[in-house]
Amino acid sequence: MEIFPIIFSFIFGTIIGSFLNVVSLRFNTGTGIGGRSKCMSCGKTLTWKELVPLFSFLWQKGSCKKCQSKISWQYPLVEFVAGTLFVLVFFTFPPTTLTTSITTLIYLFATCLLLVISAYDIKHKIIPDQFVYTFISLSVVNLFIGGVSLWHVPSISAIVAGPLIALPFVLLWWISKYRWMGLGDAKLVLGIGWFLGIGGGVNAVVLSFWIAAVISVAWLLITYRKFKARTEVPFGPYLILGMYLVLVFHIQVLDVQMVRELLMSYL
Ligand SMILES: [Zn+2]
Repeated sequence: MEIFPIIFSFIFGTIIGSFLNVVSLRFNTGTGIGGRSKCMSCGKTLTWKELVPLFSFLWQKGSCKKCQSKISWQYPLVEFVAGTLFVLVFFTFPPTTLTTSITTLIYLFATCLLLVISAYDIKHKIIPDQFVYTFISLSVVNLFIGGVSLWHVPSISAIVAGPLIALPFVLLWWISKYRWMGLGDAKLVLGIGWFLGIGGGVNAVVLSFWIAAVISVAWLLITYRKFKARTEVPFGPYLILGMYLVLVFHIQVLDVQMVRELLMSYL
């Protein structure tokens, strides 16, 4: 990949990312997506100089020019992550033909949904149905359209991948009486399973548990906080991170072929 497409897709991603911030922050607040962006504290309507992704935050040193109130770190963070993920999606699924372009679009749209889900889950500890159902629909579209050929009938293992990997999450949710795991996580895993297949899906889930465990322990050590069993941990972002690690870097913590054969032998 050359440097110019990388810079272009990164900038494109940050612009989309700044829109995703608006979507995740205004969702369920009664304010629509339309209308000029305002300072959350003093209500000052923002000029274009204050709306440039990443740079505005840096120039203004993270605070409003008028009232000096701190601007949430979510803004530059989501913009940066969106830029990075857009580069990775273009790199992993380059739009060279009509068919591959459809795949690129599917993954770009999925990336947008997953970013909004992550931002919302971290803030509110809940995964909104509207976004996760759209993500699941997209994973079903991906089963049939794009990739190697424009239209293809998915294999049995590709079809069962989603429900099979989501099932343990539904059980965890049900057994723990809705405390350990939200049903939103199970819905998310359904889509991830359909996107990655059985082997990739299992790897993504295992990776997300490992990363969540390491980060939780590190967090406890750094903050010296007493572990509270009732502390809710948003798990969605870890699952999404696991998905991208498998999708882009093909990280395998388990033998994909072995996992698939083992699971399919029970069916
Ligand atoms: Zn202000």
